[in-house]
Amino acid sequence: MTVRADSGSALVDVALPLPIPRTFTYAAPGPVPRPGTRVLVPFQRDVRIGWVVGAAQGGAPRGLRPLLDVLDAEPTVPSDLLRLCRWMADYYVAPLGLVLKAALPAVLADVSRDSLSLADGHRVPPEGLRPRERRLLGALAGAGARSVRALRRELDMGSIWPEVRSLVACGLVRHETVPPEAPPVLTHRVARIVRWLDDLAERERVFGRARRQRDAYEWLEAARGSAELAVLLNQAGCSRAVVTQLERKGIVTVGDEELLRDPFRGQEPGVAPEQRPTAAQSAAVELILATLAETTPRPVLLHGITGSGKTLVYVELLRHVLARGRSAIVLVPEISLTPQTVSRFRARFGDQVAVLHSGLSDGERYDQWRQIRSGEKRIAVGARSALFAPLPDLGAIVVDEEHDGSYKQSEAPRYHARDLAVVRAGMAGAACVLGSATPALESWSNVERGKFRLAPLPERVGGGRLPAVRVVDLRELRRSAQETRAGGGERGYDGMILTPPLVAAVHERLRRGEQVILLLNRRGYASFVQCRECGDVRRCLHCSVSLTFHRVSGRLLCHHCRYEEPAPERCARCGSRDLSFKGLGTEQVERVVAETFPSARIARMDVDTTSGKWAHHEILGRVERGEVDILMGTQMIAKGLDFPRVTLVGVVNADVGIHLPDFRASERTFQLLSQVAGRAGRSVLAGEVIVQTSLPDHYAIRAALAHDYAGFAARELAERRRPAYPPWVRLTNVVLSSPEPEAAAAAAQAAARWLDARIARVAGGGEAVELVGPAPAPIERLHGRWRWHFLLRARTTRALTAACRALVEGFTPGPDVRLALDRDPVALL
Ligand code: ADP
Ligand code: ZN
Ligand code: ZN
Repeated sequence: MTVRADSGSALVDVALPLPIPRTFTYAAPGPVPRPGTRVLVPFQRDVRIGWVVGAAQGGAPRGLRPLLDVLDAEPTVPSDLLRLCRWMADYYVAPLGLVLKAALPAVLADVSRDSLSLADGHRVPPEGLRPRERRLLGALAGAGARSVRALRRELDMGSIWPEVRSLVACGLVRHETVPPEAPPVLTHRVARIVRWLDDLAERERVFGRARRQRDAYEWLEAARGSAELAVLLNQAGCSRAVVTQLERKGIVTVGDEELLRDPFRGQEPGVAPEQRPTAAQSAAVELILATLAETTPRPVLLHGITGSGKTLVYVELLRHVLARGRSAIVLVPEISLTPQTVSRFRARFGDQVAVLHSGLSDGERYDQWRQIRSGEKRIAVGARSALFAPLPDLGAIVVDEEHDGSYKQSEAPRYHARDLAVVRAGMAGAACVLGSATPALESWSNVERGKFRLAPLPERVGGGRLPAVRVVDLRELRRSAQETRAGGGERGYDGMILTPPLVAAVHERLRRGEQVILLLNRRGYASFVQCRECGDVRRCLHCSVSLTFHRVSGRLLCHHCRYEEPAPERCARCGSRDLSFKGLGTEQVERVVAETFPSARIARMDVDTTSGKWAHHEILGRVERGEVDILMGTQMIAKGLDFPRVTLVGVVNADVGIHLPDFRASERTFQLLSQVAGRAGRSVLAGEVIVQTSLPDHYAIRAALAHDYAGFAARELAERRRPAYPPWVRLTNVVLSSPEPEAAAAAAQAAARWLDARIARVAGGGEAVELVGPAPAPIERLHGRWRWHFLLRARTTRALTAACRALVEGFTPGPDVRLALDRDPVALL
């Protein structure tokens, strides 16, 4: 039913991309646009793009303003996506307009893309034009297309949309939405060795007394032959003239090279290896296909150990889905880190695959989006936002490495792409596959509750075995080091970054020409206090998290319940005075590795390795070609890599991260260790894993060493019963932030009080919502804002949704204070 305003025009609800938790009603003077259509509306003193989301409810308020324009002939948002976005807005308690904006290419939400030009063959303006219309026409005369935004600024006469509409209506003006141009190719100046001087005698001859040239050459040689010119000049400390001399001698060239923005552009898809699915793989595919016969296909957890061939299961599934004329989405944690997985899909399905990655410009992304929408591309592969690919007739959604934290979006709307994949697949009647060697406990418990089905791949393809794992107990080594040093220098245990067993194992691989992966895990954000003697860490008496050391107050604080105690002088467990308040720095580790293995070719990969995100892609390429002996890096090297010549994985310190003040700390440690161990021995060459730890008895570490997922899950699920954490309960993290520390604290307390008084009422019917906190957030200050938080915990989603909604709609946090809700948080930092 359509409600008519007094004037006789229909009313529509419009979602605007603003942080206001409601939609807005406008009058539609012409035909009523269908839901999902973009419109221009007046909002306060501005003009905004919004989406019609339906007919308005109730009567017409007075003074209702009309839509300024309808921007799409066909709705840009297909009805199934609109339905998904409504679900998200409701569940994550986020404004529908912001959700739509997050789900669509940026171009579609950008007014500045709107341009005007004089219509072709227009003649003298007819009589009867109003003065404002004449001014607009005047500004367009003699110019090509001009952006609406610029015109508006230039004319300075308020909104020009009424004039635009009337001039477009009488055929004098053309109005278009133009995608932005792809930015030009980015280049940088690179110095590159083109003639290698391997023979030392020749080197003498060429350089003679030209010491500086030789230094520059050797610096470049150490940098594996090439470097950005600016870096060479800076770090090798040589002048441009020296490089010019090297150029004259024909040893080095300097030229502009393209910065890799889109490594998939113009790249041949490669050939798919002929692989016949194993019996286990076929059984998994059958099981997944069988769910398509159900009205709402039940999601399938593909629990396959590392190297069990999950990718081929996805590929086979997609083949069937495409053969039935349907389409599919494949989510991967991060494209730049998973080039191998992506290229397997491209090799198999060629041009039908759209790869949505962060290297695309807005224009390129919009092009891909249109090709997907039209059905030209039938498989969308990408990181979390690919979940919104507008595929018609969706038949399957695959979430690879479903446990990965990057599926959670960190700003509003804070959705979890894995959970949404389940929702979208359910709405579409599509199969949904969540694959992992180390499933999230949420997914595992969904299997136990019968909500998901389980498809196991318990063995490595070709009968390969999981690598043998050896533990090096750092506490023992430390003790013996102390004894031998008697009275000891400064370099005690903390100096021992690489223990003798690990060093020996690396040397052996280098000798055999095999490859090594070294995981240098970072300390997390928070600092905690650990006994160097027994490895014990101070924990909260009331919560299952470690206490955080606050340097300023010199006290230990629990970030969940605010329990507090003075920083200890002795270990509470063994009485040792040897307590550590901070951990190893990554740079320190790197230096030691380079010094210990001077002849090895070493590559490092972590968030700090500069020159753009595709640097990772490039590094992985070098590892694949065998140009790297030791690959060092943080968690990102644990993700899905498949290198047959890697036979040793070393974990420098397995304890790092296990003490973060977060209930997922053990789970993350287990996942990380299992995943990184899974990089070793993936071919006929046997693999080995060496784990250095001072907590060899911790259950997460023990289970990872034994490749025992089920054992870990059982223990961890028991740990999370009391106090209750997901998956036993649902959580929402409520963060209040402000530039003023007192304001943040006061707002958090006020919000908590406000909610406490209402929780009983909103939840009703005995569905309790519990409030834990408030307390300072573990990261107390972020981007200049002080942060306080509290947790809402409930057994049912309904009760939690009601509480969250009440808070967002009813509580006013005060000036300069921001309230952020994080539903189903993956981290509480
Ligand atoms: P996972 O993602 O489960 O760790 P992958 O999908 O990367 O494992 O597969 C591991 C390796 O086994 C890859 O090199 C892949 O090409 C190979 N492989 C997978 N299935 C088969 C098969 N049926 N026959 C031959 N090789 C296979
Ligand atoms: Zn101790
Ligand atoms: Zn506590």
